[in-house]
Amino acid sequence: MKVNENYLKLEKNYLFIRIAEKIKAFQAQNPDKKIIRMGIGDVTQPLAPIVVEAMKKAADELAVKETFRGYEDSGAGYDFLRQAVSDYYKSFGTDVPASDIRINDGAKSDCGNLVDIFDDSNIILITDPAYPVYVDSNLMNGRQIVYADSSEENGFSALPSPDGYELGRKKVFPDIIYLCSPNNPTGAVYTKAQLAEWIAYAKAHDAVILFDAAYEAFIKDENLPRSIYQLEGAKEVAIELCSLSKTAGFTGVRCGYTVIPAELKTIASDGTEVSLAQLWNRREGSKFNGVSYPVQRAAEAVFTPEGQKQVRESILYYQENARIISETLTELHIPFTGGINSPYIWFKCPFGLDSWSFFDKMLHEIAVVGTPGAGFGKNGVNWFRLTAFGDRNDTTEAMQRLKSWVK
Ligand code: PLP
Repeated sequence: MKVNENYLKLEKNYLFIRIAEKIKAFQAQNPDKKIIRMGIGDVTQPLAPIVVEAMKKAADELAVKETFRGYEDSGAGYDFLRQAVSDYYKSFGTDVPASDIRINDGAKSDCGNLVDIFDDSNIILITDPAYPVYVDSNLMNGRQIVYADSSEENGFSALPSPDGYELGRKKVFPDIIYLCSPNNPTGAVYTKAQLAEWIAYAKAHDAVILFDAAYEAFIKDENLPRSIYQLEGAKEVAIELCSLSKTAGFTGVRCGYTVIPAELKTIASDGTEVSLAQLWNRREGSKFNGVSYPVQRAAEAVFTPEGQKQVRESILYYQENARIISETLTELHIPFTGGINSPYIWFKCPFGLDSWSFFDKMLHEIAVVGTPGAGFGKNGVNWFRLTAFGDRNDTTEAMQRLKSWVK
């Protein structure tokens, strides 16, 4: 047998493993120091009571013959949840029919698996910096990737290049475009006008956009788009991925959804029209048996009026953390993005340090941990990510430590 050697070309030391090793070594040398972790993007607030109740009730139903459920027929999600997600889209003025929605076990799976329905010869465009899953899942298939620079100059919101992108000595136009807004790691959010540019570009070059909206619930500004489908023409060019992980604390429960509009079609090499949704259904029919019933009932509860009220409380808690972090950076005159419509704060490393040196210095001098921007791409080498998902007291203490240190 031969292994898929593309795996051997992947970055060996995955970002968070390297961070964990550094923390472990520091803690071993300094057992009495309290380390405050503001790096990994996991949530800290518990599930909303209505969600837990729904999960328990569903478990009870499974214990009774009359209400027991086995395999879900389609694997695409129960109608009750697909409809609830569709109604949620409606609540911010976006028309997404339940039939276009597929329920999954979180956005990461589909981010990685969607590449299955596209040929390996496709050229991939990824903004730099980016969520590492986009890069890795394409490198695993040996695909060629070009990068769109998201930098201080463009406010970390890369726009399409009319001249194409350099690949070796050629200029190419991408076939598959990954966009993430609000962005992980930069916290930048695309405006409607900026997204309209990407949609027009995808149309002009027969490309598809994979739009990651995992953090849409953190958008406060009503003028900013929470879904790409708030823009005209998006349904013909875009797939949207979303998740309950950060919206409702589902990082351990696991539930998300992907929208593949019926309008999204392409022409196969034999000239026949192909629906991307049908291809994906075919893929899922062979490789996925759906999300568990109790989890789908729990997710349904998130979208009820009471559920929305309860999950909002956690979102507001994180938004207040983000405000505390942003205020501190403003006071210290450290340039940053994010933090207002996003749970991520992306700042320029003080003392002219690169991001890994700054990581080490901050860990050793004030025992605060964040994520070095270099782990997200070359444009992150001098930048650093903090998350607002921590505990309030820890966030406040970390910012006090940062203030007295940097000042
Ligand atoms: N997309 C982005 C941009 C993320 O940051 C994450 C998680 O950190 C995900 C997708 C995946 O989230 P999950 O698989 O928990 O739904």
